[in-house]
Amino acid sequence: MPATELKNIVVIGGSSAGIASALNWRDDPISSHRMIIVEQKSHYNYVYAFPRASVKPGIERELFVPYANLFYSNKNIGQVVQAKVIAIHPNYIELDRSVEDFGKSIPFTHLIFATGTTIPAPGHFNADSKADGVACLKTYQDLIRQSKKPLIIGGGAVGLELAAEIKDFYPEKDVTLIHSRERYLQVYKSSLHTLTFGLLKNKLGVNQILGDRVVVPKGGFSLEVKPITVRTTKGRTIETDLPITCIGMTPNTNLMAELSPQTLNLHTRFIQVKSTMQIKDDRYPHIYAAGDVIESTDVKTGHFAWYQSLAALHNIRLQINADSELQPYVSKGVAIIKIALGDKKAVMQTNVFGPLITLPSWIVGGSVPDNLYADFPWAWIGLPCDEEHKSL
Ligand SMILES: Cc1cc2nc3c(=O)[nH]c(=O)nc-3n(C[C@H](O)[C@H](O)[C@H](O)COP(=O)(O)OP(=O)(O)OC[C@H]3O[C@@H](n4cnc5c(N)ncnc54)[C@H](O)[C@@H]3O)c2cc1C
Repeated sequence: MPATELKNIVVIGGSSAGIASALNWRDDPISSHRMIIVEQKSHYNYVYAFPRASVKPGIERELFVPYANLFYSNKNIGQVVQAKVIAIHPNYIELDRSVEDFGKSIPFTHLIFATGTTIPAPGHFNADSKADGVACLKTYQDLIRQSKKPLIIGGGAVGLELAAEIKDFYPEKDVTLIHSRERYLQVYKSSLHTLTFGLLKNKLGVNQILGDRVVVPKGGFSLEVKPITVRTTKGRTIETDLPITCIGMTPNTNLMAELSPQTLNLHTRFIQVKSTMQIKDDRYPHIYAAGDVIESTDVKTGHFAWYQSLAALHNIRLQINADSELQPYVSKGVAIIKIALGDKKAVMQTNVFGPLITLPSWIVGGSVPDNLYADFPWAWIGLPCDEEHKSL
């Protein structure tokens, strides 16, 4: 079929959720449709290793993976369009720029909304090109190298990894991690907290404060190395020269708020979906949402984003083929995670052996590669993560 006659399945967001659908689609496309991923960034950002790469030089280029070959360079199967979506209409999206083949809007028969969330740097950067992303990581490397007493605010995955990476790479620095709850990683088994706390304390020597919050000034702390005394809600004072805030997650739902305000949970601003992954708005049975952007009991991790997106795409296939009733997404409901805490150190919660268990660093740490598995996204697009390709 000529490209001009193909109908479009549009996916907004080319991260975990978007890539999952792309990989599924490219090997089993439906000839009447192609998939258009619209992503504001030029490269897939492998954020999993951002905490490490914010400290330790060397792996930056591996963490920005080109999309070029995602659909085997076959535009009739699909393509990734670099642009920011600025409005969603019932049957087309508007872009912030004119792009090849489409201009400033793209029509669709089906849409997957996978815009994720925004979290503070260095877990995420507002950098749309590889060069800017690498520069952001290097800025953090410089700041952290200069700092003698970094303070990491927030003990979620990013804060834990960052504190550990700093102390592992610079044992002489006085690193403090403060977390508002009494235990880390609340949604996981308490033994994961125990293992993490123990490793940070005994193996690395990170100072840890639990059950207290830093009073963050309006507008946040400035990104510079200079002595400062911060205060906590419980009245502590902490001397630092580089407070790094690793708290706060904002869903990227403004576009959906315009199209279908009723879809948003008013308190959390996450998107409510039906069990089929269609948005909770009967006017739009062809619009789906998946990944971190949705209100879900699934933990907000890449692997759940992946499965939710596949469930949405499966139902889109059913709609296109007018096959049968749409199928509900059945969550595996199991929170699994591997947290890297410095070179060859990690803790893990897994069900790979059957029951859900946690594993200490001496079992899982040794096998963790320096680039924290960044080869995987390169393999998805069919390129080796080697010196020849890293700069693409
Ligand atoms: C440091 C760190 C470590 C992590 N470790 C793990 C781990 O070990 N295991 C795990 O499973 N998960 C982990 N996660 C979580 C995981 O990264 C997320 O759950 C996952 O990336 C969510 O994917 P997503 O596709 O839903 O959204 P996101 O990754 O947030 O991606 C959304 C995409 O949409 C794009 N976008 C947004 N708005 C627009 C627009 N208007 N126009 C065009 N594009 C737009 C964004 O640029 C972005 O690329 C970690 C996260 C971090 C930060």
